[in-house]
Amino acid sequence: MKIALVGIGKIALDQHVPAIAASPDWELAATVSRHGSVDGVDAYTDLGDMLTARPDIRVVSLCLPPVPRYAYAMQALAAGRHVMLEKPPGATLAECHALTAKARADGLSLYATWHSRQADMVGAAKNWLADKTLKSLQVTWKEDVRRWHPGQDWIWEPGGLGVFDPGINALSIVTEILPHDIHVTGATLKVPENRQTPIAVDMTFHHPQGAQVGAVFDWRQEGDQIWTIEAETDAGTLSLTDGGARMQINGETTGTAAPLGGEYPRLYAQMAQLVHAGGVDMDLRPMTLVADAYTLGRRTTVAAFES
Ligand code: NAP
Repeated sequence: MKIALVGIGKIALDQHVPAIAASPDWELAATVSRHGSVDGVDAYTDLGDMLTARPDIRVVSLCLPPVPRYAYAMQALAAGRHVMLEKPPGATLAECHALTAKARADGLSLYATWHSRQADMVGAAKNWLADKTLKSLQVTWKEDVRRWHPGQDWIWEPGGLGVFDPGINALSIVTEILPHDIHVTGATLKVPENRQTPIAVDMTFHHPQGAQVGAVFDWRQEGDQIWTIEAETDAGTLSLTDGGARMQINGETTGTAAPLGGEYPRLYAQMAQLVHAGGVDMDLRPMTLVADAYTLGRRTTVAAFES
């Protein structure tokens, strides 16, 4: 199937372009980007122009930041195209509900991708937890914003999510592997005095069986980067490390993948299946947890952040 990539920036070049190139399902037939392009691929700067000029391209994958995503997604759906969304699937929940309704009404596929759910050991962790009684779960997601988001201003603007941008990846894993839904009971959002979005967040959650569930996200981490989820159960301890690429059960390690390894190829395989089956996959639970953290969260001001 022919596919167009929209928003040729960091994640498009790092992950989407190689994943499409290696896929038996997809051919990168066009790009839409005001500044970026991919060698040898038909390039447009305006989505409407591409949709008009290339009726043979039935699928559009959006790699833009969250705020502009809704307008692009709605324009592609209105032109009868199937749409794949980078995470988070929109800037607000209402936008995502509107996109879902449009896709369903028009019989189009719409996929809210959560790349971290495709990490190597996430499925195994979900299987292991399925018949255990959870006592506690702690997320620790600490990384260096300067290393992962060099020069990106949108992450600090309203709708840019701040440290929830990586934090929502952890929440996408937690909502996938736990057999029960959780909801937010409290949050502290640490916002640099010169920015609009948090650089660090602490969260607590209600678990229906009374397990203690918490999360810490911090973008001020230098040196080793930490992407860990640790669960205590009636049958011992499970740790997911390296963003879900490795797993330890009671200290014994499985998994050899690098962080992010294999995630985007699996997303594109899923999208191919969704288009063939005519489905919509819009799991908004990770985004609901972030929205609720903003609703319930206590905001504290911390030192200014200079990039
Ligand atoms: P980015 O490089 O800053 O932006 C991607 C591209 O979107 C830009 O190159 C720009 O292309 C276009 N764009 C930016 N602002 C726009 C606007 N207001 N209107 C229209 N187009 C705009 O961002 P990114 O790091 O690739 O992240 C994009 C999405 O992928 C985010 O939702 C992020 O959470 C997700 N993601 C990122 C990473 C990562 O490691 N960076 C990992 C996983 C997922 P033009 O100027 O050429 O139009």
